[in-house]
Amino acid sequence: MANSDKNKLSRRHFLKAGAAAGAFSGISVPLQAAAAKDTAEDKANELPFAIRKLLNAATLPKADGARVVIVGGGWSGLTMAKYLKIHNPAFDVVLIDKRPEFISFPASNSWLANQVNLDFLTHSYIDAARTHDYYFLNTTVLGFDREVKKVFTSNGFINYDYMVLAPGIEYDYSRIGVDDPADQARLYNNYPGGFVNSSELITIKRKLNTFKGGTFVLNVPNGEYRCTAAPYERACMAAAIFKQRRIKAKILLLDMNADIRIKKQGFEKAFSSLYGDYISYLPSSEISQIDIDEKTVSTDFDDYTFDDAIIYPPVRASSLLEDAGIANMKTAQKIANTDPYKYHVIGDEYVYVTGDSRSQPFSKGGHTANSEAQYVAEVIAAHALGKEARWRSPQTMCFSAVDINPLQAMSIITFYKFNKQSKEFEFDRTHMMEDWNSEGGQASLAWAEGMYRDMFYR
Ligand SMILES: Cc1cc2nc3c(=O)[nH]c(=O)nc-3n(C[C@H](O)[C@H](O)[C@H](O)COP(=O)(O)OP(=O)(O)OC[C@H]3O[C@@H](n4cnc5c(N)ncnc54)[C@H](O)[C@@H]3O)c2cc1C
Repeated sequence: MANSDKNKLSRRHFLKAGAAAGAFSGISVPLQAAAAKDTAEDKANELPFAIRKLLNAATLPKADGARVVIVGGGWSGLTMAKYLKIHNPAFDVVLIDKRPEFISFPASNSWLANQVNLDFLTHSYIDAARTHDYYFLNTTVLGFDREVKKVFTSNGFINYDYMVLAPGIEYDYSRIGVDDPADQARLYNNYPGGFVNSSELITIKRKLNTFKGGTFVLNVPNGEYRCTAAPYERACMAAAIFKQRRIKAKILLLDMNADIRIKKQGFEKAFSSLYGDYISYLPSSEISQIDIDEKTVSTDFDDYTFDDAIIYPPVRASSLLEDAGIANMKTAQKIANTDPYKYHVIGDEYVYVTGDSRSQPFSKGGHTANSEAQYVAEVIAAHALGKEARWRSPQTMCFSAVDINPLQAMSIITFYKFNKQSKEFEFDRTHMMEDWNSEGGQASLAWAEGMYRDMFYR
């Protein structure tokens, strides 16, 4: 750590960093007492290594331009890093992700049903950073001090000029009646939802391809969950696998919504014409409780006992927004108070929130995150020059596979506009293609390949 940085380390920062470290490593130290000493710098040297690490600068070259730190290397963060450098090559861009490599959620339902291999979904952060001339730091973000523009990571702190928060979503099990953290952990371990991290997907693939038969529960959450069509698509892929394996299995698709949320005609047709023997679709099935030992899901209408399940709880924005002191905890999604057009935190034009963590109710999709990040990169580049970028709507493009061998899919493309009467964003210039076919299946893979190329290789 540079001396000047050390001198700036106040008691307040020391306490903050120490508290974060205690939470992540479980190390018990008399932080309060240590922090109360007059010379924090001297006492810092007596602290355990894990905590001292937090107080050091992260291992990065010295910034040679305004530094933009991006928290989260998903579809939003990866696109942001690339386009920030395009709009202002003088920016010093650092992309942080706790994952060592990128595994795509889009196209993963096709992978579950063995239509593409894992290489198709997997990409290297190093390739992306080298192609687009930014730094990738494989570390976990632990907290922030927005007053002095610092991000604390398990690798040390980083000073920023601008910060983009794109850490995605978290599950909110309390909204399906599972409040006890121990039960939440058991539920996650036994029946992961497959919408937050790639280990969940690997578990789900194994489950579907080894299921011996019986009742398999899948659900569609309510609220603004990630990828509106994906839970219905997953039910189709699960049924296609069971059908191909010729096992006697029934999928109970418990929809916490009153009806199919998107591509309704296409999914209804698939459920009845392809999977009549496999899928029972149950709308308005609000999950109120889950008994993990008895393998029973309760809704307001009935109890359903299952042999195996994939439980996708409602979601909320990442709790990192809470740590940054910008989340409105009264909202169901725990979203930040941001400018709906410029994406910065109200009162802080140096911190932006994008991707599935965003406050705007745009579809939580990879394509949405990509097109939005291209625009927000322009907003930040303009801000640095004292200018403003003109608002443009994100675009959502979403393919849904319904059958395999050959892969068949349907799609939707839409933009958004603000309705002045209802004061809400709504779909604009929407093109829905619900007649699934093999051209749609090929197009879904070509789309994914094009997006990976944009974020990693071109
Ligand atoms: C099964 C499935 C199918 C889907 N299909 C489609 C589709 O066909 N089309 C489509 O457009 N979208 C689809 N989506 C949605 C798409 O995956 C998401 O909308 C997209 O990933 C959102 O991007 P993001 O960058 O906001 O979040 P993410 O991609 O989730 O990225 C957030 C990143 O932040 C990192 N992070 C979080 N906390 C920290 C921390 N403390 N420190 C460091 N890093 C952190 C995470 O590791 C993660 O890499 C699908 C999703 C799923 C699950």
